[in-house]
Amino acid sequence: MDLSYILNHLGEERENYFNAVSPPVIQTSNFCFKDVASLRVAFTNERESHLYTRGNNPTVEILRKKIAALAGAEDALVFSSGSAAISAAVIANVKVGEHVVCVSKPYSWTDRLLNKFLSRFGVEATMVDGTDIANFRNAIQPNTRVIFLESPNTFTFELQDLAAVVKLAKENNIFTIIDNSYCTSLGQRCIEMGIDIELHSASKHYGGHSDVVAGYLLCNKTMADKIFASEFLNLGGIISPHDAWLLIRSLRTLPLRLERTKATTDKIVAWLEQHPQVDKVLYPFSKTFPQYDLAKKQMLWCGGLFSIHLKAKDIDEVETFCNSLKRFLMAVSWGGHESLLMPACSFHPNKQYDDSVFPFNHIRFYIGMEEADVLIEDLKQAFAKIE
Ligand SMILES: *Cc1c(COP(=O)(O)O)cnc(C)c1O
Repeated sequence: MDLSYILNHLGEERENYFNAVSPPVIQTSNFCFKDVASLRVAFTNERESHLYTRGNNPTVEILRKKIAALAGAEDALVFSSGSAAISAAVIANVKVGEHVVCVSKPYSWTDRLLNKFLSRFGVEATMVDGTDIANFRNAIQPNTRVIFLESPNTFTFELQDLAAVVKLAKENNIFTIIDNSYCTSLGQRCIEMGIDIELHSASKHYGGHSDVVAGYLLCNKTMADKIFASEFLNLGGIISPHDAWLLIRSLRTLPLRLERTKATTDKIVAWLEQHPQVDKVLYPFSKTFPQYDLAKKQMLWCGGLFSIHLKAKDIDEVETFCNSLKRFLMAVSWGGHESLLMPACSFHPNKQYDDSVFPFNHIRFYIGMEEADVLIEDLKQAFAKIE
């Protein structure tokens, strides 16, 4: 892959816009035609034309070409959110009476899509522990159309053996869809591994600056044509040209940001692993991670997100620790320039905590662009508050 060509040049037809290095934001809803014949051509082939921005927009097209090439995919569609991309991918491939097998503990809105939303339309889902391929095999029914994966997930980081799942799915004529937001296409080569649809919340690493919400869908041309002609145009969850421009801007530095966040995460994880006030660190590239070998086999990159189990006697102590951190912002999402934390004990009102889902002392961290030493100093003073 010629990475810098993709990031700096692919899809950018500079001679068409005054040789500007940075592409224009084509902020228009519609496009006009010189005669009836050319309008007719656009109606017949909206996929390849500029007719209306709900279909194609030239700024969005630059982004589409780049993210497809990064993933090694034939085609790409860009959505207004990761959730819109996930919904379109699943809805396009199921109908009433059919069934989806999904890895347990996926992104929360994926869970709701499958278990609340689509059940209203007669589509059933079985959630399986994805760490054992046998669970997928046992969950497949004659009406199973889709296996939905998320490897690793973004809270406990369990993986699925992607090669094994792809093989099983192909033997049973089932589509595979993966949420690859954690790794990005650079960190995990899902399309090359044979997965049919690769999805991303571009609000995370791809956007990288905590200022855009967007989603990517990568697949072959046949599937992209099919989704474009129905879920994409019909549900209309498209991105604005301005947000697409921001995402093109962010792509220029994606490899640098991934490299930086990995280096800092590795340092902080190593420091936390030997810390007496930490019970456990969950991070796929840590030697203590139960699926370390699989992580090393199928992931080219790991970084940014990880979780710890804090050695704390109760929720109050967890809260004191979290409230004491100053350089980590307490917030959802991740993938931006700023370090974050999110404690599981915040998920339930009135501290009515259900430990069977996530232990009360589970805290997720995201490592941004800060210096490792600054973050470690901050952690030190927060640990000192609960000693
Ligand atoms: C954030 C996230 C999503 C949803 O993306 P939005 O852009 O917020 O809609 C989906 N999957 C994962 C793993 C995420 O972290």
